[in-house]
Amino acid sequence: MRRADTIAKLRRARARMTGSVGLVPTMGYLHAGHLALVARARAENVHVAASIFVNPAQFGPTEDYAHYPRDLPRDLRLLRGAGVDLLFTPAAADLYPPGFTTWVNVEGLDSQLEGKSRPGHFRGVATVVLKLFNLVQPTRAYFGQKDGQQVAVLKRMAQDLDCPVKLVLVPTVREADGLALSSRNVFLTPPQRAGAAVLYRALQEARRLYAAGERSGERLRQAMRAVVQEEPLGALDYASVADLATLQEQETVRGPVMASLAVRFGKTRLIDNILLGA
Ligand code: AMP
Repeated sequence: MRRADTIAKLRRARARMTGSVGLVPTMGYLHAGHLALVARARAENVHVAASIFVNPAQFGPTEDYAHYPRDLPRDLRLLRGAGVDLLFTPAAADLYPPGFTTWVNVEGLDSQLEGKSRPGHFRGVATVVLKLFNLVQPTRAYFGQKDGQQVAVLKRMAQDLDCPVKLVLVPTVREADGLALSSRNVFLTPPQRAGAAVLYRALQEARRLYAAGERSGERLRQAMRAVVQEEPLGALDYASVADLATLQEQETVRGPVMASLAVRFGKTRLIDNILLGA
């Protein structure tokens, strides 16, 4: 595995690659969810490139940028073992040099759901992902369904800006009790960790009702809220049943929708989602 820690080195390494390239963007502190993306990229491309970059532009001023978990030696071992050919680990000053002022706003999609609690988050995500697309020029790029709104935002961006890359979605990897793997799970105390399974239980309740024929968006949202309210350590941020592409809340579920929720456990905010009718 070759490691490029500057844009110049990345461009030189990329220029030597021929054939398809799969890109897996990450913020590091890797777990089995990230490795599922790498495995899929490995299976579908001649070369696999990954990036580790804790992107300051997608963190709000009161969020956990400084405290986001990092363990580069361990990440290097995992990515080497998973068959990554090229790892990009840029410094923030390399991607955002003095004078940087161009941002990607995926209007409308960036202000719903996560965007309400995290203004500016998707501007940071879309901008850095477009930069990674321009630098790595991947044939395919791999993203987790775990971050469902991110998927909707990036699909829209790639379509609107004619990015010559295929976005590939990988199903969410979960713990035995259903909790979606996340780098932030490390912040949970043992009682919070036990309580965090409530997100998946709430989503399963929505799935059960949907399977039984419930098509009222509000009753599905209310059912998820009720499950989360039973968990004393969790504070619900939102429960949503929204259109996959527009992220508009649905009054009546007709096509495929994303049921999603965000719940705070102390200072740690967890998100999860499932697709219904997809
Ligand atoms: P992050 O490092 O949190 O920015 O995540 C990097 C990529 O891994 C994103 O496309 C995430 O959606 C994906 N990802 C994170 N957690 C999971 C998971 N539990 N299952 C599948 N993909 C995941």
